[in-house]
Amino acid sequence: ILIPFLGLVLAFWFYSARETFKPEMLKGKRVIVTGASTGIGEEMAYHLARMGSHILITARTESKLQKVVERCRELGAASAQYISGTMEDMAFAEHVVKEAQTSLGGLDMLILNHVGTSYFGYFDGDVGHIRKLLEINFLSYVAMTVSALPMLKESEGSIVVVSSMAGKVGFPFTVPYSATKFALDGFFSSLRQEFHIQNINVSITLCILGFIDTERALHAAADVLLVPAAPRAECALEILKGGALRYRELYYRYGSTRLPLLLRDCAAELLESMVRSRYRLDRIGSG
Ligand code: NDP
Repeated sequence: ILIPFLGLVLAFWFYSARETFKPEMLKGKRVIVTGASTGIGEEMAYHLARMGSHILITARTESKLQKVVERCRELGAASAQYISGTMEDMAFAEHVVKEAQTSLGGLDMLILNHVGTSYFGYFDGDVGHIRKLLEINFLSYVAMTVSALPMLKESEGSIVVVSSMAGKVGFPFTVPYSATKFALDGFFSSLRQEFHIQNINVSITLCILGFIDTERALHAAADVLLVPAAPRAECALEILKGGALRYRELYYRYGSTRLPLLLRDCAAELLESMVRSRYRLDRIGSG
């Protein structure tokens, strides 16, 4: 009886001793948000604007980025600008970071959030698609991190990596996407270890999300998934809080992401069958 009780007391103490988030933490901070023309990235840009950050956003569609930047200025951003281009091109990924150096004079937070288009259905065997998706969803994250590290070391800043439940446990119907998200965990969790060893004070927050109500996700999976989609604006705010508080990992929402993942090591087959039970399998094409 005593051991579980002590465990509960320790857990309570740990959580109550944690620093709480205040919007001022991000006021005046220089932040890059990738994939910010729509979805969760767009919502992160608006939250940052309300908090008074300097924002540099990127994606491919210039007309959408222009509108997001205008809105950010109306909402009170310290400054807001965009660069359009594709993350298939590593030179472009590096160029975005250099722009932060030139126009913001440094960087406090790098939010890696963009995601390339993939399909929802049985794996079709297209190796070329996996290579392309790895470039967009994984290699460009690495390229931006490498370019940004000198600035982040100087500011003792943060890297925020937006991932998914599909990057922690096998998910059917998104095989190429899941592969890229698992790769992010491997790279950034290993890099975090080296930062500890080398006393590099740059935090890495890996964000584990469930189903979120962005247009892309609803279009791809609303008809097939049996779980409700969580609101993207709330999700965006939780990601920013996790980054500002320098969490190792951020689970949004805890009950539907962290708790099931506790089964991974002790009851993996149960977890996998729980994942499969979330789909209306009769609505998936035969592939
Ligand atoms: P969206 O599809 O709404 O937004 C994706 C963003 O990435 C857009 O701004 C898009 O803009 C940009 N983008 C796409 N392709 C490229 C490219 N080749 N080069 C540069 N930018 C590109 O995605 P979400 O908001 O739904 O997802 C955001 C993050 O959250 C992703 O990392 C995703 O994996 C993760 N996530 C989302 C979940 C969900 O249910 N929504 C669940 C779990 C994780 P443009 O087309 O203009 O380039």
